[in-house]
Amino acid sequence: MASSLKFLTDNFTWAEAVVTHNRAGIVNTIQGESTMGNILNTAMHMEKVRECLGGVPILISSWYRSPALNTQVGGARNSDHLLGAAVDFIAPAYGTPLEICKKLVQDKNLLGFKQLILEHSWVHISWNTIPNVAPKLEVLSLLSSGAYARGLTDNRGNPLA
Ligand SMILES: [Zn+2]
Repeated sequence: MASSLKFLTDNFTWAEAVVTHNRAGIVNTIQGESTMGNILNTAMHMEKVRECLGGVPILISSWYRSPALNTQVGGARNSDHLLGAAVDFIAPAYGTPLEICKKLVQDKNLLGFKQLILEHSWVHISWNTIPNVAPKLEVLSLLSSGAYARGLTDNRGNPLA
């Protein structure tokens, strides 16, 4: 079996962990000693996210990004995607990104995320890679300016929840 078909957990695969599309044709090769472990941990967290959303399919657009790929797609220099610890996803069978974020905020203590970002077209969620660090549980929303507002807001910063 090709390694890309291997499952990390019941519902997530290695193929999904390296799925980020890019126009430059950069191969998303996993780098860094702790990255594989981070990806596995993230997959376990994503199983909890999936459970919170009633077990609906999670459609992942980006998870681990190699440094070259992160640069190509315009990711932040200190992005948790570089560590394999952040996932961008939608779950249309559950609802919109806002509806998903509202539910994940409700369940934040169970999920223990570092950061949840309403990107409007998708949801970004990440977890700490350092053991025994209290989860930050930070909730942000992307503004049309490219900056981030605290909490769940529309793209002008008006609160939505
Ligand atoms: Zn992201």
